[in-house]
Amino acid sequence: MKRRFLYGFTLSGLLLGAVLLRPGAHLIQAIRHDEHNLPAAASGYADDVSRLNQTRMDTIVPVAADTAQALRQLRGLLAQARTRHLPVSIAGARHSMGGHTIAPGGMQVNMRPFRHMRLDIVSGTLTVGAGALWADIIPYLNRHGRAISTMQSDNAFSVGGSISVNCHGWQHNRPPIAATVQAFRLLKADGAVVTCSRQQNAELFGLVLGGYGLFGILLDVQLQTVPNEVYSYHRVPVPAAGYDAAYRRHVDQNPQARMVYGRLNVNREQFLEHATLNYFAYERPATRQQPLTDPGFAATKRAVFLSSKEDDYGKELRWNAEQLFSRLMVGQEVSRNQIMNENPELYLNQSAGRTDILHEYFIPRRQFYRFVQQLQRIVPRHQTNLLNVTIRNVYRDEDTFMRYADEEMFAFVMFFDQPATAEADQQMQPLTQELTAAALQLGGTYYLPYRLHATPAQLRTAYPMADAFFQKKLQYDPQEVFQNYFYQRYKPQPVPAAVAQATH
Ligand SMILES: Cc1cc2nc3c(=O)[nH]c(=O)nc-3n(C[C@H](O)[C@H](O)[C@H](O)COP(=O)(O)OP(=O)(O)OC[C@H]3O[C@@H](n4cnc5c(N)ncnc54)[C@H](O)[C@@H]3O)c2cc1C
Repeated sequence: MKRRFLYGFTLSGLLLGAVLLRPGAHLIQAIRHDEHNLPAAASGYADDVSRLNQTRMDTIVPVAADTAQALRQLRGLLAQARTRHLPVSIAGARHSMGGHTIAPGGMQVNMRPFRHMRLDIVSGTLTVGAGALWADIIPYLNRHGRAISTMQSDNAFSVGGSISVNCHGWQHNRPPIAATVQAFRLLKADGAVVTCSRQQNAELFGLVLGGYGLFGILLDVQLQTVPNEVYSYHRVPVPAAGYDAAYRRHVDQNPQARMVYGRLNVNREQFLEHATLNYFAYERPATRQQPLTDPGFAATKRAVFLSSKEDDYGKELRWNAEQLFSRLMVGQEVSRNQIMNENPELYLNQSAGRTDILHEYFIPRRQFYRFVQQLQRIVPRHQTNLLNVTIRNVYRDEDTFMRYADEEMFAFVMFFDQPATAEADQQMQPLTQELTAAALQLGGTYYLPYRLHATPAQLRTAYPMADAFFQKKLQYDPQEVFQNYFYQRYKPQPVPAAVAQATH
């Protein structure tokens, strides 16, 4: 009897060992490849998180933390730029990926030190320096029982960068962040400071939100906040074809749903055929003592994510691990501030030879599954390593000039791993253009802070107001003081004299 038990026990142990051997070995391999050897930025050069834009600059200036001092410093810098005919670009956390914070040979203002903040407890309005990161703001608001209304899915971004790209996140059934901006102060190219809101300088207000730093330097911003709350976490596995119906049932018809994201499987077998709908439902208000904790299981989450870079088995492993353990990882209940306080370092590349590149396409909701089918057709034809597809919804944007959402959209956020080389970047261009064309054909748009691979014609189809936007830019900044790679690539190009003559 005893011996039979011993045999059974040993056999189960061996079987369990055999089952765990492959995933264990895979995770160890992923951890070994996680080299943490990113080179330090070369002195006198600027780059962004893509590490594909290293550019020689004339000057890189960290702004002073004190408002009066910063204003004096920035006015001096603008005067110098005008005299020396140098372009000025503005940098927050530099998580845009197409040189949006860089104008070659110019002056770059690093806004990060400018991070003062004050909450009006009665109105819930936060006045904050444009260089502050969400990671600075969330703990501050948490102490007052308040939370950000709309932001990205992670905390590593600056306020100025976030509103200049008009970001959005998991806060469902909301327009992008612009809807939560009440006012801001802007330092213009001529050195004047203006306050912009829906009542004051309304045109400039709409141009600066989503305006990629082309109209001036955002100094401080008034943001509407919301109460911090406690949510329960729910996860619904569905076929991708049934995602919209599941969304209708679990989210649209659920007044308690507060934050939502979807995920599609990326392993080759049954590519994008499965989805999970993840939502956080309101349970009760958070107390002011609701602590913010370090995210649990950080090393395990990173190892599982990195294993999906390795090969298809790793992608399947990650998908299965998320199916089995996500409830354990998130916990039964979690506060809004805790969810939004995740740092992307948890999954961002740290190895010198590689980089992570994001794409994002906004698709009218009724076309959701047709776009999934297009992705299934297009992506496997290209040599890529697609790690992740997340789905969010975003409501119509009523506030910005360069709008990406004229109706409710489902946003497809795609995350690619690739070598950090110009050749690999070039190889991704046809894929990006094909995906952009597919989005445009379905009445969708694409997000602008990533690689500048879309053609100028695609930009103008996605953003029919683009030429008017660039004209307004010249009206407010006739000397083109504020520039970046995005502006230089897409602004209307002068027609060559020979072509102009021939058309007369
Ligand atoms: C890992 C990762 C995850 C992401 N997740 C999301 C997401 O969930 N949702 C989403 O919408 N986006 C997302 N993004 C894109 C990101 O939101 C944008 O890149 C955003 O700009 C990040 O803010 P930043 O501080 O890094 O801006 P930066 O990259 O520093 O700047 C972006 C633009 O804003 C301008 N700018 C910055 N500060 C100022 C200022 N003070 N005055 C005037 N102009 C200024 C810059 O000149 C530039 O044109 C993600 C990016 C990465 C890398």
